Amino acid sequence: MDKIDRRRFLKLAGFSLASSALFFSTKAFADSQRIVIVGGGIAGTTAAIYLKTLVPNLSITLIEKNTKYTAGIMSNEVIAGLRDISSITFGYENLNKINIKLINDAAVEIDTNDQLIHGKKDKYKYDRLILAPGISLDWQSIQGIDNAKNITGWQRGVDVTTLKEQITNIKNGGNILISIPKGPISGPAAPYERASLIAHYLKSQKSKSKLFILDGNSPSEQTALFKSIWSQKYKDLIELQTNTTTEGVDVGNKTIITNQGKIKGEVINIIPAQRANLIAQQAALTDKDGWCPVDQRSFSSTKADNVHILGDAISPALGLRKTAQCANSQAKHCALAIAATITNNETYKRSMPLIDVEYSIIAPSYAISTVQIHKQAREGLRYQQLDTHVKDVKVADKAHREYGYAVSWFNNITQEIFA
Ligand SMILES: Cc1cc2nc3c(=O)[nH]c(=O)nc-3n(C[C@H](O)[C@H](O)[C@H](O)COP(=O)(O)OP(=O)(O)OC[C@H]3O[C@@H](n4cnc5c(N)ncnc54)[C@H](O)[C@@H]3O)c2cc1C
Repeated sequence: MDKIDRRRFLKLAGFSLASSALFFSTKAFADSQRIVIVGGGIAGTTAAIYLKTLVPNLSITLIEKNTKYTAGIMSNEVIAGLRDISSITFGYENLNKINIKLINDAAVEIDTNDQLIHGKKDKYKYDRLILAPGISLDWQSIQGIDNAKNITGWQRGVDVTTLKEQITNIKNGGNILISIPKGPISGPAAPYERASLIAHYLKSQKSKSKLFILDGNSPSEQTALFKSIWSQKYKDLIELQTNTTTEGVDVGNKTIITNQGKIKGEVINIIPAQRANLIAQQAALTDKDGWCPVDQRSFSSTKADNVHILGDAISPALGLRKTAQCANSQAKHCALAIAATITNNETYKRSMPLIDVEYSIIAPSYAISTVQIHKQAREGLRYQQLDTHVKDVKVADKAHREYGYAVSWFNNITQEIFA
């Protein structure tokens, strides 16, 4: 080896030694990190899969209280008898194949000082926690609902099938009441989609029946859009009363008590107000309104170190909707941010738009969608909304195409996460 070659060799060797030392130290750091995710829904499972893909040697444990996930998405089709509950129910077998440890346990307490999760069955120590537990229903907001928690048709598969049975068994001429709470909810358009699909069922099977929506919110662009579609497709079948807050329920008499008076129905479906899941509230990770404030880049909690919060539980102050697509996108942003911190890899440090779409099925082969595109703002908590687009489809063949997109989106997002 001549002089120049030796100098070049030493330089190269020095560089590779330094970079391999860095590689081994970041690898060792990643190896030693215990990542624990609580909640195996859309956000938590997406985060687990993407973080494992980005940093394969990370130890990732997912704690989920149920053995199967029942999606809220498409549950309104189940209620209207258009699909079976099994088609929206998913297992977690895929996680084992990629070395993500799944633990079937319910977190009951999180000690963010000791970085310890108390489950019903065991305790779990974490170096970094991703909390994605979704929402809890605020039972206290409705007097008398304590003994009738199965009238929501909202979170549990069993409540969805109960509501479906009640609607199937309603006599022709019996009325259905749907109560929508004021404030942010999981699936903002889901109650209006539910009303549309129940009306579709009534139109063909119980045309003397009627659906009343008691909506705690003021009229909005969203309600105007649905009303204009209903006036064409479900004329005289749906009546929407805005600014109507449900205060109580008399289950025996099938009566809802609102700020506008009492109303009786044969089937009553009450969707209570919502907050971040109780586990987040108990861990003091919520603000005064009951939602979790987080940093908009990494989704790390502003209330505790080494805790990231994703999905429906985060504060509406970020300007993001509580949809499945948004939860899925947040999880990918969070996975990149954690991977960047743990591996020191510059390529993971990137700013990407956050794309959100919510489809609403109005009838078989008829759907609409609203798309929102957000980007991280330079400062402040709130995402900057770049674009919002409503596909208000009054032309039947476009609505038909949109229905195809809705089904395809659902199949794709659930395959990405659970297959
Ligand atoms: C009826 C309905 C219809 C909807 N329709 C649509 C739609 O058409 N399009 C759309 O984009 N979005 C829709 N959504 C909203 C969408 O489902 C949510 O935005 C999305 O699921 C949020 O994801 P997440 O991971 O935050 O919560 P979830 O998907 O709810 O997951 C939370 C998970 O955490 C688990 N968990 C909770 N507490 C604990 C605990 N203590 N320990 C362990 N595990 C726990 C739960 O069992 C659950 O698996 C709908 C929602 C509902 C209710």
